[in-house]
Amino acid sequence: MSEAVAGRYFFPGTTRFVAARAVAEGDILRVEDESGTVLAHVALELVEISPRLGTLRRRFTFMDAGCFETEDSDAADCLLMGKRKGVSAHHLERSWQWAAVSVLFAAAAMFAFVVYGIPGIALWLAQETPPSFAATLSEQTLATLDKTVLKPSALPSPDRLRVEALFARAAGHGRRGAGHYKLLLRSAASLGPNALALPDGTIVMTDQLWPFVKADDEAIGVFAHEIAHVDHAHSLQAVYQAALVPAAIAVVTGDISQISQMAAILPGVLIQAAYSRGLEQQADDDAAMTVRQLGGNPAHMADLLERLDTKLCGKAGCPANWLGTHPQTAARAAHLRNAGTK
Ligand SMILES: [Zn+2]
Repeated sequence: MSEAVAGRYFFPGTTRFVAARAVAEGDILRVEDESGTVLAHVALELVEISPRLGTLRRRFTFMDAGCFETEDSDAADCLLMGKRKGVSAHHLERSWQWAAVSVLFAAAAMFAFVVYGIPGIALWLAQETPPSFAATLSEQTLATLDKTVLKPSALPSPDRLRVEALFARAAGHGRRGAGHYKLLLRSAASLGPNALALPDGTIVMTDQLWPFVKADDEAIGVFAHEIAHVDHAHSLQAVYQAALVPAAIAVVTGDISQISQMAAILPGVLIQAAYSRGLEQQADDDAAMTVRQLGGNPAHMADLLERLDTKLCGKAGCPANWLGTHPQTAARAAHLRNAGTK
C-alpha cells in the first residue's frame, strides 16, 4: 500500500468538498475522509488523472464525476507508481509481443540477407573485381592445387593436340574472346574426371576426364561450361560469398593483401564444385549455346554427364566433380537435351 496523499474530495456534481486522503491499494484508488469513511473506491485504470503541470493541483476525476484534488504533486506521483507498475506490466506484456515480432522480423531479414543480399553483394563485387586481382587470386589458387591434388598431365601428344583444338573452338565463343582463356591439362587421381575454371580464364581439365569423352561436342560442352563460369565470374562470386568481408575490403579499397584469405578458400570451392544450382544452370545454358553455334548438339553434353554419372555414382554416390552433385545430373541432362531440340 502506498502512502496516503492529502487533498480534497469534491462530491459528484457539486462544488462541495471535504478534506480527504487518497491511498492506492494495488490497482484500486481509495479516497476517504478524515474519519475514515470511504468516499470513492475505484480502479485506477478508470480514473482520469491530470498531468503534472508546474504547481497546478493534480486532479483525479472518477467516472461518477466526483474528484480528488491535491497540491502535493510528488505524493500524487508516488501514489501513481502503483498505477504505473500496472501500466508498465501491461506494457511489458505488449513489449514481449513486440520483441517476439522483432525477433521474427530480424530472422526474416537475416534470411533474406543470406539468400539474396550476400549473393547480390558477391555478384557486384565479382563484377567490380579488377583483372589484376583475378590474376593474382588465380595464380595463388593454382599454386595450391598444384602442390596438393594436381600432377603433371600424362596425356599422350595426339590426345593433347586434339583436346587443345577442341578447347580453342570453345574459347572462340567465350565472351572475352579467344586468347583470353588458357587450357591447362593435369592429372588428378583424387579428383577423377573433372574440369574447373579459375577466375582469370584458366581452365584446368584432368586427364581422367578425357577417356569419358566420346564426341567432340562433349568436350566442347565441358570447356564452354567452364568458360561460362569464367565469363560470369562464378568462382569469384562463390569465394566472395564465403569471405564477404575481406572481399569487400579488397575490391572497395584496392587492398590486395586481402586476396590471400580468398586464395585459401578458392581451391576448396573449385574442387568441391560448390556452385549453386542457378550458377550451374547458367553455365550449362551458355555451353549449350556455344555447342549449337558450332553446329553441334547440346544433347551430347547430357550423354557425357550421364556416362560419368553411371560410371562414378553407381553405388558409393558421386564424388564432387564437374558433375556437381548427383541429384542434379538428371535435371541438367534433361535441360541440355531440351536445349538440343530448340
Ligand atoms: Zn559447373
